[in-house]
Amino acid sequence: MNTVYLSLGSNLGDRASNLDRAVAELRGAGVEVQRVSSLYETEPVGRRAQPWFLNLVAEAETELFPVQLLGRLQTIEIRLGRRRDVVQGPRTIDIDILFYGNFRIRSERLVVPHPRLEQRRFVLEPLAELAPELRHPVSRLTIRELLASTADRSAVRRAPPANLT
Ligand code: ADP
Ligand code: MG
Repeated sequence: MNTVYLSLGSNLGDRASNLDRAVAELRGAGVEVQRVSSLYETEPVGRRAQPWFLNLVAEAETELFPVQLLGRLQTIEIRLGRRRDVVQGPRTIDIDILFYGNFRIRSERLVVPHPRLEQRRFVLEPLAELAPELRHPVSRLTIRELLASTADRSAVRRAPPANLT
């Protein structure tokens, strides 16, 4: 089994239910989700003129090979209604592979660890909630350290639990 960390985000439709459905689908696709972070309400980075995202990070165990895992994630994205028309635009669901054990992968389709995770507070905050002492296999810095030193100043707020609203 390999421990993987996945970043999930949604900014179209019922965002919380899109995330719920995606986590449920992961469980049926050979990705044994162990822990899920809180939900985080996050300001879009890059293409700014779009709705805010709801993000979370999931820790999971899987026997799938990295490219197989990516394929399953993309199938789930499509099943949940994702359209790939606007680059960096609004999406019902986006699922990215942050870490796959301590492996480094550099292929045309897949780069792991995710190359932009250090620059994304919306990834680092939920990841630090789950695994603050996890070390980035390349830089050897912990997630706590990456979060403390990221240049990303965009807004990331822990969302209230859905069952309390
Ligand atoms: P983004 O997540 O960057 O906003 P997309 O979800 O449309 O954009 O992904 C674009 C491509 O990124 C995918 O087709 C996939 O092949 C590639 N990719 C490379 N590395 C990763 C990774 N670690 N996790 C997910 N996708 C990745
Ligand atoms: Mg993606």
